[in-house]
Amino acid sequence: MSKKHICIIHTGGTIGMIRSAHGYLPKIGYLETVLDTIADLKDESMPRYTFYEMNPLLDSSDMAVNDWNKIGEEIANRYNDYDGFVVLHGTDTMAYTASALSFMLKNLNKPVVLTGSQIPLCEVRSDGQDNLITSLIIASDARVKEVCLYFGGRLLRGNRATKMSADGLLAFDSPNCPRLAEAGITIRYLPAPPPPQVSDAPLTLCKFEDVPIGVLKVFPGISFPIFDKLMTEKLRGIVLETFGAGNIPGEGDSLLPIIRKAFNAGSVVTVCSQCPQGTVSLGTYATSSPLKEAGAVSGYDMTTESAVAKLYYLFSQGHSKEEIKRLMEENLRGELTK
Ligand code: ASP
Repeated sequence: MSKKHICIIHTGGTIGMIRSAHGYLPKIGYLETVLDTIADLKDESMPRYTFYEMNPLLDSSDMAVNDWNKIGEEIANRYNDYDGFVVLHGTDTMAYTASALSFMLKNLNKPVVLTGSQIPLCEVRSDGQDNLITSLIIASDARVKEVCLYFGGRLLRGNRATKMSADGLLAFDSPNCPRLAEAGITIRYLPAPPPPQVSDAPLTLCKFEDVPIGVLKVFPGISFPIFDKLMTEKLRGIVLETFGAGNIPGEGDSLLPIIRKAFNAGSVVTVCSQCPQGTVSLGTYATSSPLKEAGAVSGYDMTTESAVAKLYYLFSQGHSKEEIKRLMEENLRGELTK
């Protein structure tokens, strides 16, 4: 059997960073030379890989919508030439990019695995080598047909993943979705929730437009009128991070008219929870039911990362605001459970 051929796309992030007087930073050309020195990558059991580097390389906290589009393009342009893709990425916004790619790559039928590390490969105790090697093995497994994130022994659905730790090596998890696989002595694929629909139709790249999207985190004592102009005149898509199952303070007296105004102006307000685990359930409490009546949509158990990416996706597809409201509550790529 011929060896699987994997495309590694290096976007930046800690894994390939070097030390500098101002802290770690990415350096063009560096990571490829490091990979050449890792004997395990040349082992008989490993897939073949081709390395591509984006320019500029970014700390992922500098990534924006157009960078997601470029990564999507790199994958789409090479889609038919490889069995799978490993995207090397900084951890800070990896869950956002994984979510964005899951919507952007329509009819994906091959593995796209995002990974990186908390400790750069240039340091002892780096977690980068294991994360990369295991990701390459996963990317050559035809059972995986979606955008996922591998980190610290866990394979997660990309649009369900969230960064849980700023300094731990088990940095990611998907609290609202069982892990797709766990890598111990062997890589054990788990009975995953129904995968997003896989189609034989050709891959379609749905690039994102830079629509004004905002996230508003509710806190005790929040004064909603301060955000009125922002929500009704500036933003198109708003993720409202509420308490618990979708609750807001003050029975929404001051928020509801703003949501109504925002919707009339063409904006869509999506209600997510500040809790990493569990779902929004509008109407369970009196503090949440008016949100629905005012025109907000439920984000159910979607991560904020995923809700942000989904808003970009749906607005970029040119749907009407009513259609966006409807689709925000539908499970398009495995991103939510209703
Ligand atoms: N700031 C880095 C980044 O997100 C952190 C990391 O990669 O772990 O690019």
